Amino acid sequence: MKRYGIVIHGGAGTISKKSMTKWKEKAYKEAITRAYTVGYLTLHKGGTSIDAVLEAVTILEDTSLFNAGKGSVFTNSGEHEMDAAIMEGKSLKAGAVAGVSLVQNPILLAHTVMKKSKHVLISGEGALEFARLNGLSIKPESYFFDEFRYRQWQRSFSRDKVQLDHDEEVNEKYGTVGAVALDKNGNLAAGTSTGGMVNKRYGRIGDSPLPGAGTYANNESCAISCTGHGEYFMRSVTAYDVSARMLYKEQTLKEAAEEVIFNVLPDMGGKGGLIGIDRQGNMVMPFNTKGMYRGFKNSSNEEFTGIFR
Ligand code: ASP
Repeated sequence: MKRYGIVIHGGAGTISKKSMTKWKEKAYKEAITRAYTVGYLTLHKGGTSIDAVLEAVTILEDTSLFNAGKGSVFTNSGEHEMDAAIMEGKSLKAGAVAGVSLVQNPILLAHTVMKKSKHVLISGEGALEFARLNGLSIKPESYFFDEFRYRQWQRSFSRDKVQLDHDEEVNEKYGTVGAVALDKNGNLAAGTSTGGMVNKRYGRIGDSPLPGAGTYANNESCAISCTGHGEYFMRSVTAYDVSARMLYKEQTLKEAAEEVIFNVLPDMGGKGGLIGIDRQGNMVMPFNTKGMYRGFKNSSNEEFTGIFR
């Protein structure tokens, strides 16, 4: 039987055990488990990897625990600007949005860009208008407001600091979200959604919506979704680098992903992690931070939910 499965992440960061209460840990783990379980059931019933990724990411966007959709971090002008991308491994088609506000599920908007526009990436006001034209759910600014996020931003703002939403100095550990999946037909897909970095300069765009940097899928190699300090992931074209190493260097997914996360990025000063799945259904979740919210489920009945190393 052909293998299939899904891997998800809720962001990598220097999450410390001491600032994680039992209740919080339970809430995170439940959200992660729910997201991959729903995605997995779709794959199990014969659904596409794109549908499984959309479902898992949407669930994580709708949870204020993570830095995506509801619960996104604040920019330096006190607003929310979200980035998201989805990519299909069979056709190499991709859709993405950057710096978009008020859209409940940026990942669904990225998918609409892929399906219904001639473009790959639409930003800002244009993306919001495209969402309205296509009947996507638009929410008032208050929907995205989160008390923890607000306090987190105020601390960063007063120190004029840009940071990952789960950096050690901040007590609230939330994260960018992503999913990668392989379906019964052997098709791969990847999706990533984020509010970006805390106190980022307004208008700043990260790696998540850029095909090849934070998100990539190719049926010949793998599907990848990244999380971490986006500037480094853009400069090293991380997600594509994993695929290229597999195709041109004949590295396994594990070798390629570990090389990138444990050597390439740290040499530049880059922190973060990624999730990946290859065409055989092998899965990886390496990270060079203290933790990464992550989980997977596959057709071999293997299942995992974790936060710390
Ligand atoms: N990679 C995201 C960005 O730089 C942040 C994250 O993964 O938490 O926008």
